[in-house]
Amino acid sequence: MSTAGTAGSSGSEKQALGERLQGFVGREIGPPEVARDAVNEAMIRQWCDALEDANPVYTDPAAAKGSVHGGVVAPPTMLQAWILSGPEMARPMSEQRQDLQKELHLLLGESGYPAVVATDCEQEYTRYLKPGDRLSATTVIESISQEKATALGIGYFIDTRTTFRDQQGETVGSMRFRVLKFKPHQQPQPAQSSSAAPAKPTRLRPPIGHDNKWWWEGINRGELLIQRCKRCGVLRHPARPMCGKCQSTEWDTVVSKGKGTVYSHVVLHHPQVPGYEYPLIAALIELEEGTRIVSNLVGMDPAEVRIGMPVQLSIEAVDEQMKLPLFRRAK
Ligand SMILES: [Zn+2]
Repeated sequence: MSTAGTAGSSGSEKQALGERLQGFVGREIGPPEVARDAVNEAMIRQWCDALEDANPVYTDPAAAKGSVHGGVVAPPTMLQAWILSGPEMARPMSEQRQDLQKELHLLLGESGYPAVVATDCEQEYTRYLKPGDRLSATTVIESISQEKATALGIGYFIDTRTTFRDQQGETVGSMRFRVLKFKPHQQPQPAQSSSAAPAKPTRLRPPIGHDNKWWWEGINRGELLIQRCKRCGVLRHPARPMCGKCQSTEWDTVVSKGKGTVYSHVVLHHPQVPGYEYPLIAALIELEEGTRIVSNLVGMDPAEVRIGMPVQLSIEAVDEQMKLPLFRRAK
């Protein structure tokens, strides 16, 4: 972990911001949020349809009656769904609920950290919810980190803890949610050509650091490298500092022969991100050496792709600055 200065803000401004941020910690963001609807079978069925969860204790009253629950219960992972209040951003600002969390995000946005990304979420379930339960939730800003340098950019991690209670005020579960509020990296812009045509959008850049720089250098040389533990010989991908089998940090590499088969794949149609061509075939390739790699299949119709299909590595320039290991149908 490290900290880094940001352009245009002095150390004392940063310290003042840090102190203001700590003033948010430990406070509830506002009054409890109350569920619009009681726990109900219709929402449970829709959730189970969407997630293809066929457990009969959620949807089949007769089967549920004979279970330990004695009747239909809600999937525990629905916990937050019961108190969500709809897409608030569609409403005018004056009608939106104002709370301390929004105030915190506004402060960070005005201080030069405009972007936000959710990084992780943990939930705990105290009991199963049954139709008729009516939830409310209170959220506390649990902690705010020091300024951190991350692969996405420099920013602050914000942890909130939400406690869910039933109509008797008993806790039924809780959720810790972490976001990073950050200043995105500025991507290096390609040199402007003399023509007036706007630069072609490029693909998203991977985070490259100490532990994986060597791998990308291999790609730029035209080699797909696989990390090998020097102590036990196990191969691993993606790059990481320690062997998962014997915990050795000593490693070298082997150059993949580039032969593999399609282990799994998915075809992406939407959303269409600039810099990519659609439909885009994302595939998990099992290399002959034994490791797997996520890549794109090119030069074929998505309908042709089959699990187990033999494929061949092809390291190709996808834009002016980036080469990627792609795969084509083996000849
Ligand atoms: Zn090892």
